[in-house]
Amino acid sequence: MQNVDAGIEAAEVVIVGSGFGGLAAAKQLSKSGVGYVLISSTPEHLFQPLLYQVATGVLPATDIAPPIAQVLRRHKGADVRLGKVVGVDADAAVLTYDTAEGQKQIRYGSLIAATGANQSYFGRDDFAEKTFSLKTIDDATRLRAQIERVFAEAAGADKTTRERLLSFVVVGAGPTGVEVAGQLKELAKRHYHQEISVTLVEGAGAVLPPFGGTLSEYARESLSGSGVEVLLDTFVTDIDEGKVTVKSKDGVERGIAAETVVWSAGVAAGGFAALLAEATGCETDRAGRLLINQDCTVGGRADIYAIGDMTSLNGYPGQSPTAMQEGRHVADIIRRKKQPGTPFVYWDKGSMAVISRFSAVTKVNDKIKFTGLIAWATWLAVHLFYLVGFRNRFIAVMSWLVAFIGTGRPGFAEVEKTAAEAITEERRAA
Ligand SMILES: Cc1cc2nc3c(=O)[nH]c(=O)nc-3n(C[C@H](O)[C@H](O)[C@H](O)COP(=O)(O)OP(=O)(O)OC[C@H]3O[C@@H](n4cnc5c(N)ncnc54)[C@H](O)[C@@H]3O)c2cc1C
Repeated sequence: MQNVDAGIEAAEVVIVGSGFGGLAAAKQLSKSGVGYVLISSTPEHLFQPLLYQVATGVLPATDIAPPIAQVLRRHKGADVRLGKVVGVDADAAVLTYDTAEGQKQIRYGSLIAATGANQSYFGRDDFAEKTFSLKTIDDATRLRAQIERVFAEAAGADKTTRERLLSFVVVGAGPTGVEVAGQLKELAKRHYHQEISVTLVEGAGAVLPPFGGTLSEYARESLSGSGVEVLLDTFVTDIDEGKVTVKSKDGVERGIAAETVVWSAGVAAGGFAALLAEATGCETDRAGRLLINQDCTVGGRADIYAIGDMTSLNGYPGQSPTAMQEGRHVADIIRRKKQPGTPFVYWDKGSMAVISRFSAVTKVNDKIKFTGLIAWATWLAVHLFYLVGFRNRFIAVMSWLVAFIGTGRPGFAEVEKTAAEAITEERRAA
């Protein structure tokens, strides 16, 4: 599949990124035996929707992060490489990427960029140092270690110290913030049998803003009912050690004790999205996402596609179904199952978010909505379906039984290993 052209290796298709978009594109190309090189800066395919369960000890990290090489091992013509793409020459159709063995270059026939997005701190990058985020598997294991530490130290401490240690602030009441806040309360009540304070801070006027109406209201009431303090129309203005300062829309400022701050407010595409924008003249939105063409091509280039969280198209949600559907769409164009230039059309299958055990919201469309146990069971079933690998699904079901029917947290058993070690072990086993 690869050959060497003027001293530079060449591939029919190069995919950058091993997330939802990259994996979907790879699988679709394989259906027609189209060879590809997949370059990713992380060795795993990360199932981000379950990161909060790793952070709170429900699932082991390896369960949601199988090595991408293992996932694609049966794909003839798949060539998976660990490397960070650091340059693109759109005229020459050449990518430059850093690897452990040094810098390399590769010429592409078609390029599929699927490098996702990072956390956004809205101009306060210093908050990154003071908060925990949930974007990578290492983020999740770092937060898990912090949670284990504060509960362990609080166990033998006096009341004042215990209250200080067990104070959590979660910033952003999107699905991740809601899941983390709800799960922290549950962890404290059912596993550690401790009182904790959890404050959820949201700049908008509703919890789960994209859901809106009765579903947002259900989520707010459900969180409040479990003891989470929900602050709407409120912004974080500062973060110091042990304290978060917030300001409400009407100008009232207050400090909240916070030994642990989880940041889940906003995304920004950077890195490779910025490189592509510069190389192709493609415009970006305020979050740095590429404003791609209707067929997912970038700028005036027919040989460069960008998909998923690094892009913005027609207001489609920055969620895994968009990335996967776009990945399949561009792969279909490349494998000639669709005409070049065919516009991408998003199929909205609905959205869902978990609040806590037995409580979730599901919105199929404006008329069909569920809350409570049915929504929670649907969430588990859908996420199980999309989780990669039979073994991972089996472990997930077992872990969920232990954590949700029982009171255990199987993920905490993994805490001594770093995520990288755990993944390396998994790889060896595979
Ligand atoms: C905590 C959390 C919870 C979520 N929950 C849900 C949910 O419940 N439902 C839902 O639909 N969506 C959810 N999402 C959103 C969903 O995960 C994303 O929409 C989806 O992952 C986007 O896929 P992607 O392929 O665009 O990017 P990603 O899946 O982020 O993959 C990006 C890939 O690019 C690689 N990469 C980045 N830069 C480079 C580079 N320069 N060179 C090489 N490789 C690079 C990364 O290593 C990674 O493999 C959640 C996201 C988070 C963070």
